[in-house]
Amino acid sequence: MNFDLIVKGGTFADGRVADIGIRGDRIIAIEPRIEADAREVIDVTGDLVSPPFVDPHFHMDATLSYGTPRINASGTLLEGIGLWGELKPLLTHEAVKERALAYCDWAVSMGLLAIRTHVDTCDDRLLAVEALLDVRKTVAPYLDLQLVAFPQDGFYRDPTARQNTIRALDMGVDVVGGIPHFERTMADGTRSVTELCEIAAERGLMVDMHCDETDDPMSRHIEQLAYEAQRLGLQGKVNGSHLTSMHSMDNYYVSKLLPLIAEAGVSVVPNPLINIVIQGRHDTYPKRRGMTRVPELLKAGIRVGFGQDCVLDPWYPLGTADMLDVAFMGLHVAQMTSPADMRRCFDMVTTENAAILGLEDYGLEAGKMASLVVLDAGNPIEALRLRPDRLAVVSKGKIVSRQARNDARLVIDGRPASVRRRHRAD
Ligand SMILES: [Zn+2]
Repeated sequence: MNFDLIVKGGTFADGRVADIGIRGDRIIAIEPRIEADAREVIDVTGDLVSPPFVDPHFHMDATLSYGTPRINASGTLLEGIGLWGELKPLLTHEAVKERALAYCDWAVSMGLLAIRTHVDTCDDRLLAVEALLDVRKTVAPYLDLQLVAFPQDGFYRDPTARQNTIRALDMGVDVVGGIPHFERTMADGTRSVTELCEIAAERGLMVDMHCDETDDPMSRHIEQLAYEAQRLGLQGKVNGSHLTSMHSMDNYYVSKLLPLIAEAGVSVVPNPLINIVIQGRHDTYPKRRGMTRVPELLKAGIRVGFGQDCVLDPWYPLGTADMLDVAFMGLHVAQMTSPADMRRCFDMVTTENAAILGLEDYGLEAGKMASLVVLDAGNPIEALRLRPDRLAVVSKGKIVSRQARNDARLVIDGRPASVRRRHRAD
């Protein structure tokens, strides 16, 4: 049997060592040793081979715009939204596309091959929607982009957001978004959750809402989101992003809320880098961390992923498209430091995020899409510790990025140091 590509000797996340035989865009065989011809063979003996990273929450219309027209002085969500409002009228189709495509290159180099990005629909021109629809098509051969219609300035609060959000869905945007905590009243927020979920149910679409991204312990839109998911038969198709208010909620109320979310089959995506930076800005000390209750959600059987949210934009001045940075911060803030918990954090930025996006072709199994990343690490926990180089990235059967291993020995105090490969254990 002949293959187009064989990835030889990699260590899987579960510790197995196997060869991966690829033909066209499919994984054809995974066996301890594949003895066959291939047009190309890459030897990854001793390195971690993983299905690609997946980001379930991003803003590609805003990325790489940091400093235009100015920076966020207070560091708050609200100033970020105001700043984005100043930038919006200055956007051009070409500029949005150029920034988004540059970010997609960053993503590919990091082995990040599927991204769910929100796109602002509060703009009568729907310029960013058109630009990101173009980008989705351009990158489709090597990167899966899912677009969420996101009424940034409020589905009801902004006078034309409702019609523009529906227009965006008509144009081919994939997922229904919302921002209930930014509506004028709690009641309007609740109503927006109901109507947006009804729109999704009618169209057979998934829902991904920015939900309760606030330190207000009384912000309870997740309750309505779970209720609507169940009422409209949307189990497994609804995600609540952020849920930061849950950090500050009353414990008794949370004990009632967790089973409701689990029953409704609603998944949750905190964005650790952004939550730790944006929440608690009005606190003195002690200062709240603001990230939602990840271990408790997991214990209740709720699917949880970690998202990147922002890179160099009005809300966040850093970022590299590395989902390992995201998981690294997530495990610190959630105090998930046992070996099992750290391993789970790796899964949260790979397989769990893929399940949230509904990627059915995902995973290192025969018959699945041949997409994978090779990391300069021995196992998932070492990958989290080192956030190492991505030695090779394969997307849909093709090698899309390669990087030579940096094996240079350091000289410390005049002697060759034992440190190599950024402190790899082997
Ligand atoms: Zn967001």
